[in-house]
Amino acid sequence: MGDYVNVAKIFGENVFNDTVMQERLPKKVYSKLKSIIEEGGELDLATADVIAHEMKEWAIEKGATHYTHWFQPLTGVTAEKHDAFLTAPLPSGKVLMSFSGKELIKGEPDASSFPSGGLRATFEARGYTAWDCTSPAFVRQDAAGATLCIPTAFCSYTGEALDQKTPLLRSMEAINKQSLRLLKLFGNTTSRKVTPSVGPEQEYFLVDEEKFLQRKDLIYAGRTLFGAMPPKGQEMDDHYFGTIPQRIAAFMKDVNTELWKLGVTAKTQHNEVAPAQHELAPIYAEANVAVDHNQVIMQTLKRVACQHGMKCLLHEKPFAGVNGSGKHNNWSITTDDGINLLDPGKTPHENVQFLLVLSCIIKAVDKHAGLLRESAADPGNDHRLGANEAPPAIISIFLGEQLEDVVEQLVNTGVAASSIRGGKLSTGVKSLPTLNKDATDRNRTSPFAFTGNKFEFRMVGSRDSIAAPNIVLNTIVAEAFSDACDVLESAEDFQEAVHDLIKKNFSDHQRVIFNGNGYSEEWVEEAVRRGLPNIRSMVDAIPELVKEESVSMFEKYGVFTKTELESRVEVKYENYTKTINIEAKTMIDMASKQIVPAVIKYEKSLADAIISLKAAGLEEVSVQRELLDEVCVLLKETQEALDALVEIEAEANAMEEGREQAVFYHDRVMTAMEALRAPVDKLEMIVDKEMWPMPSYGDLIFEV
Ligand code: ADP
Ligand code: MG
Repeated sequence: MGDYVNVAKIFGENVFNDTVMQERLPKKVYSKLKSIIEEGGELDLATADVIAHEMKEWAIEKGATHYTHWFQPLTGVTAEKHDAFLTAPLPSGKVLMSFSGKELIKGEPDASSFPSGGLRATFEARGYTAWDCTSPAFVRQDAAGATLCIPTAFCSYTGEALDQKTPLLRSMEAINKQSLRLLKLFGNTTSRKVTPSVGPEQEYFLVDEEKFLQRKDLIYAGRTLFGAMPPKGQEMDDHYFGTIPQRIAAFMKDVNTELWKLGVTAKTQHNEVAPAQHELAPIYAEANVAVDHNQVIMQTLKRVACQHGMKCLLHEKPFAGVNGSGKHNNWSITTDDGINLLDPGKTPHENVQFLLVLSCIIKAVDKHAGLLRESAADPGNDHRLGANEAPPAIISIFLGEQLEDVVEQLVNTGVAASSIRGGKLSTGVKSLPTLNKDATDRNRTSPFAFTGNKFEFRMVGSRDSIAAPNIVLNTIVAEAFSDACDVLESAEDFQEAVHDLIKKNFSDHQRVIFNGNGYSEEWVEEAVRRGLPNIRSMVDAIPELVKEESVSMFEKYGVFTKTELESRVEVKYENYTKTINIEAKTMIDMASKQIVPAVIKYEKSLADAIISLKAAGLEEVSVQRELLDEVCVLLKETQEALDALVEIEAEANAMEEGREQAVFYHDRVMTAMEALRAPVDKLEMIVDKEMWPMPSYGDLIFEV
């Protein structure tokens, strides 16, 4: 059926990957680049010239006419400026295709059009993009033709990070350094590099394009701002892992093919909890590649959806009352010689190392819970976190029955003599049990769950970049490793010291471990008793970035300077304000130009019906009367709420930019928006469907 896709053949065919580099680059150039990719360092211009030339020739063979420095500013999406390869015409009138080493390693986009949070005065609007050679370049084919995309970092003239990639690379360096220190304590002399591995599971909705275009809220805000629940919700659960409809299947096939060509290991696809909701997961990769690939995945989903007459909604909560979308960020730490530090292992030796690593992660997550929560904050995610679906806004760790039992034994008695399923005490190392990596259960309600040989951070929003959560994870764990190494490197009796430290970390931070139902009201109360933060909104989460312990940690490990953090805070408040502002304005527009006029028409049709019935001699018009009364009352409520929203929005808009304005938008504008939505959603249930000015939830999610 259809054309046959040879995955092995097309995989990575549009990527300037290791094989291509080996084939095309002179041996000396190749080994120089390879060593920089693996160990870091700076590329000299002569070498860069050779690489650029070969990269250009390769890209042109793929049809590329342009190149772009592809970067991730603080908008959560990617940015690019395209330059053609061509030179100025020669005297003969012909042009050459050129691309120099300088153009490869450094670009100068107009930085003033990207958020910088005051880091860049306008007179110094210059910013630089610099090639990240650890993430391979690729040729992307779309309506614009073919473009050579060069993954880059984006910095200000004075070197401050203006993007997501720069701090991510810095955090990877931090965890590399501290992990190597830790491994050395256990006698490891073979591992040369440690990298965080990341596998994000991406959720999304698909809706019909024609219907999408009839909804201004979807167009401008990416989510519905009005809409009553359809008679059939997701209570049947009949689509989860159900058969994938043909239209969606054809879409998925094209998405996969596109992604495979770009070297993205699209692996798993299935329907999700809500109708019209789906998921795509690649095989995990090094953190910075995974972050780039996740951006490629989001762009590809959107582009291919358009080619299939659909729209892909990446928003965290496109439909109120219907399950929202998130991104599960699977995270582990691996050495270049294949050791996963989160693998419980088979021997007691590995086992102690694992328990130390685990105890450090627990400490890190407990200590910086607010920061981790902040890393998943975006305006859309406010509708999910803590709203009785997907994870609660409280950070807790799920370990599974076996590990939790080990922790309890260690904390309570100082020895863990057995493990639940392993059953046996392993000899050799004092009082630590053998662990069985499959002895973990699944708990879907936990925001941070241990799943066999990785942690799964489930708070991340579907539309958001996964850079921030990984920057935070890498850095907080690097700090905990560093603390542990400080103690253990100077210990006289290593065995004794490591045992004591594991016990101490578990005891001090046991409060963050929770294996129960994270969606329950009891947990919210229990978390208060345990002193765990419950940060309910983005505006409340943002200050976590500049708390003293956050700033000192980020500075100590060279991930962010205080100035960079302060600029990010500013950008985030601005982002929040702008988002809610657009939503409020869209609601005002829809209500005044579409909904109120439609309701008035319906009222008129009812009134006309009553008059005609009476004229025909019928006295019994009570049904029509009652309906008309009800509609009149709701319309009045709507108009009042609309007027109130107009007023409060204007007040918010006039405020000075910053925290206070963002808080005002959250507390006052959002509330006014909800007040407007309530009567409108009731009206939608009453007004003649033919007269309602936009497709309903039912039309959107059950008829893709
Ligand atoms: P699910 O959670 O849906 O059962 P899996 O846990 O098997 O699915 O995988 C989800 C994601 O986790 C995939 O992207 C997978 O590649 C990734 N993953 C698996 N092992 C690791 C690991 N050690 N480190 C990071 N990510 C991983
Ligand atoms: Mg998973």
